[in-house]
Amino acid sequence: MKKLHLLLLAILLIFIGRNLSGQDVLKSDLSPITGSSSVTGEVTFTRSGDELIVFGVFRGLQPNMLHALHIHEFGDLTNQGKNVGPHFAPNRVNDKENQAQRDAGDLGNVLADENGNAQFVTRTKDLTLVAGPSRIAGRALIIYAGRDLGIDGKFGDNPMLAGGIISSTDRTKLSKRTLNTGETIYLPSNLPEKAKVKVEPIEPVIEEIEKGLQKGVTRLENLLQNVGETLESAGE
Ligand SMILES: [Zn+2]
Repeated sequence: MKKLHLLLLAILLIFIGRNLSGQDVLKSDLSPITGSSSVTGEVTFTRSGDELIVFGVFRGLQPNMLHALHIHEFGDLTNQGKNVGPHFAPNRVNDKENQAQRDAGDLGNVLADENGNAQFVTRTKDLTLVAGPSRIAGRALIIYAGRDLGIDGKFGDNPMLAGGIISSTDRTKLSKRTLNTGETIYLPSNLPEKAKVKVEPIEPVIEEIEKGLQKGVTRLENLLQNVGETLESAGE
């Protein structure tokens, strides 16, 4: 009997271990942080080699506005978002030279269309799903009323609109598509049937924003226009 228990425990541990290490997508469902916000969002983080591809859909944003999207250190959304801690920055160094560095958790800006809806896509090498000090599992994802200038420490007073915890998800409920690059990306389950996704390699947006706000905005606009291009879906 004891042997059976040990066997079952061993199988369980192997299963959990495999589940975590094999994790290739995490998800965050964002809901309003304060009563005055009606912003919602659904964001997937798909692992592709040593990068993460971040794909999000949002509703209820301020039309034609840029909204900063940040991962915060702690996955605690109580107290109207005041418990999420600082921007997630495993790379942060306390010296003057690095003050202007972008935090790994600064994902750039989401551009809302004229109806306050938005699709967002970027990729980063600075974050991992579940392994190592850069892991994002269990942390908070927050979308803000104002834009991020990409200059750390100059984020200013920027109200939180919506937030969610980044957690594991039932990937069978996500839609899966293959990009031209051969990479697989998981898209939110509530993506409209006709939603189009840029299938060319997604260039880093956040680094452009670092170089200067105007250039970053232009880049984002181009990217979002490209998102409207026809999808040749090789996925499911
Ligand atoms: Zn930051």
